[in-house]
Amino acid sequence: MPLVRPKKYLGQHFLKDENIALNIAEALSGKYPTTIEIGPGMGMLTKYLLKRPQLNLTCIEIDRESVDYLNKNYPQLKGKIITTDFLEVELSTIVEGDISIIGNFPYNISSQIFFTVFENRAHVKEVVCMLQKEVAERLAAPPGSKTYGILSVLLQAYYSIEFLFKVPPAVFFPPPKVMSGVIRLTRNARERLECDEIMFKKIVKQAFQMRRKTLRNALKSLNLPTSISVLPIFDKRAEQLSVEDFISLTKLIELSK
Ligand code: SAH
Repeated sequence: MPLVRPKKYLGQHFLKDENIALNIAEALSGKYPTTIEIGPGMGMLTKYLLKRPQLNLTCIEIDRESVDYLNKNYPQLKGKIITTDFLEVELSTIVEGDISIIGNFPYNISSQIFFTVFENRAHVKEVVCMLQKEVAERLAAPPGSKTYGILSVLLQAYYSIEFLFKVPPAVFFPPPKVMSGVIRLTRNARERLECDEIMFKKIVKQAFQMRRKTLRNALKSLNLPTSISVLPIFDKRAEQLSVEDFISLTKLIELSK
């Protein structure tokens, strides 16, 4: 069986390094055995996941050529592959209860994958993934760092995020132009925010869209009463606020409405 011809538009960079594949597969705690692998490709990661028989694996792969390859080379995957676009799947229709997600993500859609994780946070308890190092660092960034942004705040409200290790371009075929990084997200105990969630998202987005400005300026369009906007928290910039600070800020703004 010939190898899959890498398709750029699908973000196909196949991992060649067995040891790295093993390390990624083993970074999954196994506490949530129902596991989805996004983009198995030629099965480099999948084969190490199959060595963990306690995992109940489902693979989602958009590329038919990859799926044909997997079916021929990994008969154990029979019935475990869904040929579709991960971003089009309603997760609750394919898996039940608590789940883990793992994958060497297609880098071009990694942010969208994380918005899907965020929307499914009631069920997605753990994520182990490789993505562009810069994005991996951004998601795991603590407040105060330059790379801390919208997705860092939204995800860190519900997940603790660890940067595990970086991976150089040379271990892929074809090599990507960027360094890669592996991270793990572990769901925390928070069930919901202690403030209005829609308002929270709106404030986080708006604050970071003008990240160099003080919150007083960045949130001007909310027309806050002066009694609120004189408070010292409005002298700060978005990147200085922790998740807890954004929650307090949202509560404060809700009260003023
Ligand atoms: N896991 C493999 C391949 C990683 S490359 C390895 O480590 O070698 C990314 C994979 O994601 C490719 O197989 C690509 O076909 C697949 N992919 C790209 N977009 C996708 C989407 N929207 N839904 C599901 N899979 C996708």
